[in-house]
Amino acid sequence: MAEGGSAGHVVVRDVGKTYAVDGDGIESIRQVSFELERGGFLGILGPSGCGKSTLLMLLAGLFSPSTGSILVGGTGVAGPRRQTSVVFQTPVLFPWRSVIANVLFPVEIFREDRTAHLARALKLLETTGLLEFKDRLPEHLSGGMAQRVGLCRALITDPELLLMDEPFSALDALTRDDMGVELLRVWEEYRSTVIFVTHSIREAVFLSDRVIVLSPRPAVVVREFSIDLPRPRRLEMQESAEFNRFCALIRACLAR
Ligand code: ADP
Ligand code: MG
Repeated sequence: MAEGGSAGHVVVRDVGKTYAVDGDGIESIRQVSFELERGGFLGILGPSGCGKSTLLMLLAGLFSPSTGSILVGGTGVAGPRRQTSVVFQTPVLFPWRSVIANVLFPVEIFREDRTAHLARALKLLETTGLLEFKDRLPEHLSGGMAQRVGLCRALITDPELLLMDEPFSALDALTRDDMGVELLRVWEEYRSTVIFVTHSIREAVFLSDRVIVLSPRPAVVVREFSIDLPRPRRLEMQESAEFNRFCALIRACLAR
């Protein structure tokens, strides 16, 4: 197997992205490099407008980098792939489709057998506490429930890599905390590699094995932190000295 060839292993090498705007170039990210082992959970933190979403879109194959290369599972990313799922800030569900039909939507896109995925869809809904709402339409869901549906939909294809772009930012603080705990539970069970963009330091520390801090635009990697807090993580942990030490270190790094 090639270097970095195992499923879900991510290698980002010297990646830069400059957008062409009216004959001008807007340099969004510059020489970003990192590697992520299969099944790892990486948090990406940076100021607003620094290039975090750009980086995720490059990983998703929705844009191509101007320089450098990205490998997922040993293969160069050249476009969107079934093995990579993305969760955005708002889930964009089809309003006329039930919860379960929304979760199964990617299966139709990839022209796969719906019944073969039904058991997985039901299990995902059960894990996220949505089973009893499977036949509801999205208009009857709270923001947190809708985002859970989005998460189930992202996981229905058993992706190697799950990309999340500030997925809980639109939720109230309490729901947001619950979603973090739930995401970790789902991740422990399904073990996709996760790259999670946020501008909440506490959220990044709570969820991640590692946190990468990006500079203001053009984003470069300022520093990488290993978050060696024990798992499973519980919300009470956020009161611990260890947790708050990580937050303080990262805050200082971002302020620089
Ligand atoms: P973040 O997600 O960290 O807030 P983005 O990746 O969305 O940042 O944007 C980084 C920079 O790139 C911003 O200055 C933004 O204006 C610019 N940018 C993002 N998308 C485009 C685009 N499609 N065309 C031109 N410039 C863009
Ligand atoms: Mg963004």
